Formats: sequence, C-alpha cells, structure tokens
Amino acid sequence: MAPGAPMADPTTAAPRATTSSAEPDALVIGAGPAGLSAAAALRHRGLRPLVLERAPQVGASWRGHYDRLHLHTPRRLSGLPGLPIPRRFGRWVARDDVVRYLEMYAEYHDLDVATGIEVARVERGTSGWELPATGGRVLASPVVVVATGHSRSPYIPDWDGRETFTGELLHASSYRNAERFAGLDVLVVGVGNTGAEISVDLAEGGAGRVRLAVRTPPHIMRRSTAGWPAQATAIMVRRLPTGLVDRLAPYVERVSVPDLSAYGLPRPQTGLYSRVREGAIPVQDVGLVAAVRSRRVEPVASVREFDGATVRLVDGSEMTPDLVVAATGYRRGLEPLVGHLDVLDERGRPVVSGPRSPQNAPGLYFTGFTNPISGMFREMAIDARKIARAVARTR
Ligand SMILES: Cc1cc2nc3c(=O)[nH]c(=O)nc-3n(C[C@H](O)[C@H](O)[C@H](O)COP(=O)(O)OP(=O)(O)OC[C@H]3O[C@@H](n4cnc5c(N)ncnc54)[C@H](O)[C@@H]3O)c2cc1C
Repeated sequence: MAPGAPMADPTTAAPRATTSSAEPDALVIGAGPAGLSAAAALRHRGLRPLVLERAPQVGASWRGHYDRLHLHTPRRLSGLPGLPIPRRFGRWVARDDVVRYLEMYAEYHDLDVATGIEVARVERGTSGWELPATGGRVLASPVVVVATGHSRSPYIPDWDGRETFTGELLHASSYRNAERFAGLDVLVVGVGNTGAEISVDLAEGGAGRVRLAVRTPPHIMRRSTAGWPAQATAIMVRRLPTGLVDRLAPYVERVSVPDLSAYGLPRPQTGLYSRVREGAIPVQDVGLVAAVRSRRVEPVASVREFDGATVRLVDGSEMTPDLVVAATGYRRGLEPLVGHLDVLDERGRPVVSGPRSPQNAPGLYFTGFTNPISGMFREMAIDARKIARAVARTR
C-alpha cells in the first residue's frame, strides 16, 4: 500500500498469490501473519520482498487449526499493518475468517508469494544470504526475514511406553472436531488454551467421558469482563515488573474466575507473569470453567507413562482411554534452518528478534518467535513495521 493511500475495501476480492520476475529486495520465509505483515511493511517502504511458503496457500497454520477456534484476542487488537480485520468478522474472529483475512491481506498489499517452496537452510553467500529451497533452486538476498512460526513442529513428550499404547494418540494439531469421537473415553493432556478448548469441544460434541491431565494448574482469565478484553489489560501491564504483576494477578483472578479446587483444579501457586516469561500464556476461558463445574471435563493428574491400553498418571491412578489428545505444544524447529549460524540460544530461540539482526548475521531478521502476553498478532504487527524501518535504513 502506498503511504497515505486510501484504504479500499478489498474484502470481496478473490485471493491471489503471485510471483513477480523482478529480483526481490528481501526474502521472507513463511506466509503466516508474521511473514505477510513483514512483507507488507517492507512494501510500504518501497521495497519488493518475495515471500517463500512451503504450503500451497498463505495462512497454512490457521487452515489446520480445529474448527471451533476463534482468535482470543479481539479483532481490533489483532489487525496487521495497513489493513484492519473487517468489522463483519465480529469481535472474536473465527478460524476461517482469519484465513480469509490473511488471503485478503496478501492480495491487498499485492505481495509476491511463492507457494510450494520450502527453504531448507539459510546460508551465508558471497553478498548476503543464500537459501537452498525446493527443487534445487537457490534464492539470494542481502535481507532475509525468518517467519516460520512459533508452532512449527507439533511436540509430544516421549512418555515411557508411548509406543505400546493400544488406543489412539493424536496431537492437538491434528484434531478438528468431536465428530469422530462420540461416546469415546478421552484424555486430553495439557491445559494451555488449546487443551482447554479441545476438552470443552469434546465434552460438548458428545464424547462419553473427558478427562484433562493437568501438570501445573493454569492461570485462567475471562476473555473479557464487562466488555473490557483481557488482552487490553495484558498490554497495559506488559512493561511492569514481573513480581508486581505476579502479586496483583491473584486479586483479579479471584474476582473473575471461581475457585475450582473442589473439582480438581486448584488455583495456581506460580506467578502469572513468571509463567508467561516461561512461555505459558494464561488460559482464556471459552467454556472450561463451566465444563469443569458441571463435571463434563474432569481434571486429573499429569501423565507418567503408557502401558498397552493403560495410561498411568503421576498420582498412581490409571485409566484406559480410547483416545489421548496431546495438547502438549510445539517446537520452533529453527535448528535445521539456522542452527549452524550461531544465532539461537540454548532453548532454540533466536538470540534477537524484531528489528535487530544478530551481530554475526547482519540482514537476518526473526519475527513471531516470542509468545508475549499482549497477543502475538499485535506484536507481529509492531515487529513488522520495525523490521521494515531497520531494513530501509541499511539501504
Ligand atoms: C491454536 C492457536 C491459537 C492462537 N490464537 C491466537 C490469538 O487469538 N491471538 C494472537 O495474537 N495469537 C494467537 N496465536 C499465536 C500466533 O498468532 C499464531 O500462531 C500465528 O499463526 C503465528 O504466526 P506466524 O506467521 O509466526 O506463524 P505461522 O502462522 O505458523 O506461519 C508460518 C508459516 O511458515 C511456513 N513455513 C515454515 N517453515 C518453512 C520453510 N522452511 N520454508 C517455507 N515456509 C515455511 C509455514 O508453512 C507457515 O505457513 C495462536 C496460536 C495457536 C497455535
């Protein structure tokens, strides 16, 4: 979009992904919200980036999420640079509308997106970066933005006896809806936002019994209170000291969420913001509290091991579920791509992200690899503008 250009409503336009033949000024790896917003911000600065996407279409991660998923951050706080999310998508934007928004976004900003191209590695070249990709081609550019996603590789813990399990074991990334699981005994493992919502979906969708294995009792927040979204509070407190937010949070939690100890889900002992710093975002309540209180979702201890049909929990109890849904998170999986460049820390996170390049890797940027309390769409939008400014300054 040209600076100051009026914002037409492109929402009726058909999605389109194109590639131009001109040499790109920057290569962006990944056509999710992080990559698309970085590319749009670079376009806004007059640069011509090329987005490389391994999937056949933009927004691949969102296309794969479960059916009932909505953004838990409100529409107005989740728009990417240059194009707000259309009002008609409602306050809490449904998964399919997030996908439509990302399609519209690429179209509106006239982004060059090359789909079906997987980048194997980022390598130092003679005058910048070289990216060996699908089909033996090597793309080169002095600027590379890595936006391959916080949730690249589904992760299932290596529980003892996992391979002996005779029931079905599914990672949450493969779960769509409860249809196939009517009447079944299900154990959902992990009580992040995904595990919490999938357990509710299963209970409402007709599963025979739903248990939810909890390792650390989560912080639970209402998505909004009297119209005020939890994300707005999160944005306000994000710069406050961790200890202060940890001390204040229990007061808010006590007035907004009932005590579920009697149902097997005690209040957390760990500080809310300390947990965020460790990567655990609070659970936004989209039905878990009611489902636990009505005992349609039963919290249980965390999983210790599998043994044939049996799942043994850390408190010694046993069960024989038909299905185990592992809502046990993802890994960034950056090692094969950039591990050899000495730009990752001991936990596999980029040493710097946003507008800063690692000192030993000028022109290499990372976006979308933090998990801030203030909402990732919002932070990716902020980072996109900063990255574009930083890149423009170096030219
Ligand atoms: C279930 C769920 C709900 C969420 N809800 C919210 C929410 O409500 N609000 C919010 O702000 N955030 C939310 N997030 C967090 C975050 O906003 C999303 O995960 C978002 O999709 C991250 O965007 P991204 O572009 O960084 O990664 P992705 O959307 O995962 O996009 C990365 C892209 O890179 C491609 N790719 C990966 N490797 C390569 C390669 N080697 N070569 C080429 N292409 C590659 C992938 O195919 C993918 O299309 C949610 C996350 C999850 C998992």
